Amino acid sequence: MAKVLDCGHANDFEGSGVGCRDARGRSLCRACALENERAALKEDPTFFAYVRRDDRGEIAGIATWLGAELGERIGPVTTSRANIARKLQTFRVRDIFGATWACRHWPDAGDYVRMTRVRGARVA
Ligand SMILES: [Zn+2]
Repeated sequence: MAKVLDCGHANDFEGSGVGCRDARGRSLCRACALENERAALKEDPTFFAYVRRDDRGEIAGIATWLGAELGERIGPVTTSRANIARKLQTFRVRDIFGATWACRHWPDAGDYVRMTRVRGARVA
């Protein structure tokens, strides 16, 4: 069933009726979802991504939830306790546009990474 999404393309998400949604709730195909993520990475002061690991399970960088690479880790991973229960890992990433981000990741709470832009806001 080739349902047309709000972006104007056919739904290419297997087993999902809605594809991916952007911040305004529009449904997007895979290509448009990636385009949307990249635009946000370029413009936004904060960003939400997913941790990407290397073969040894170390944090290698960040990706979209569909697994498209968005940046590489630079420098060490620092592990601390956010509170008594939750372990917090912090590290920095250089994104695909060359900007640097401070990243916070809670390894016991899933794969997500909260990111705050440090410098290199835009590509000239
Ligand atoms: Zn599309």
